[in-house]
Amino acid sequence: MPDVLTYYLNKIERLGIDRSHGKPAPHKPILLLAVIDSFEQGLIAKNQIEPSPQIVESFLKFWHLVSLEKPRIFLPFFHLKSDKFWHLHPKAGREQLLQMTKQFNSMAQLASVVAFASLDEDLFTLLQRADAREVIRRKIIEVYFPEQAEMFRAVIAENQEINQIENLLLESAENKNADASKTVADMPKRNIAFRRAIIRLYDYTCAACRLRIITLDGETALETAHIFPFAKSYDDSIGNGLSLCPLHHWSFDKGLFSIDDDYKMIVSGNFEESGNEAFLLRNLKAKEIYLPKEKPFRPSLTMIRWHRENQFQNYC
Ligand SMILES: [Zn+2]
Repeated sequence: MPDVLTYYLNKIERLGIDRSHGKPAPHKPILLLAVIDSFEQGLIAKNQIEPSPQIVESFLKFWHLVSLEKPRIFLPFFHLKSDKFWHLHPKAGREQLLQMTKQFNSMAQLASVVAFASLDEDLFTLLQRADAREVIRRKIIEVYFPEQAEMFRAVIAENQEINQIENLLLESAENKNADASKTVADMPKRNIAFRRAIIRLYDYTCAACRLRIITLDGETALETAHIFPFAKSYDDSIGNGLSLCPLHHWSFDKGLFSIDDDYKMIVSGNFEESGNEAFLLRNLKAKEIYLPKEKPFRPSLTMIRWHRENQFQNYC
């Protein structure tokens, strides 16, 4: 009887993979790399892998290294079940539908039927260990992507660094430290970490209008705004961030609205607008912005005051 790790390494080496297009299809091994990535980011605490934007995000990072085709993550998310260590769990009332389905056509369609996938309990336990993750990941790359091994390793190392920076950002917000991530000089990586942390804390929601858009193919319309512009403040701590849709990001940067000390919106009188009432900025006046659940991650009042005093067009 081989040990558990060897058992799963063998399974992973022999994934049932579509080879009808000449080369073996990369979908399943890429999904497994994305799952390992999600474990590493601490996103999988329970044995439940949801068809979520996060897993799509991880999938895309690797997908673009090997294919120019559309990243159809719903294919492996569904078909990995034939490898017997990946189990699909239907949403309530969708049991029969899942049983009858032979294929999904989009991640949104899959997510309407599948609540989550779980792994064999043994594999789940294994993937919680950093050393086992490393061995399994190496095996996937060696078997399925030997020619791109260098690139994969570079992306994985970069991911790990971005995860660390993101954790630093979150920790320093929690402990109210001076921003610890400032010790990291690498701006592109800090930008990615800042954006990722903010978008997640705000759950892909515009703080102003509460619009929440995520296509389950990994796109979101949401943008990350610095309350005190980064070019002036060099501050990318969590408290200087807001998640906004493109319209409200623009309006915020132009000072058409700002936020008071109770996190309510104040709207400038210095512009004209017309159209559907529901979409007008002036109707958001005095509404509370959407806030991260945990207090330490909310916008800093110092930053908000700066915006109010320097950016807001205060003509009522
Ligand atoms: Zn908005």
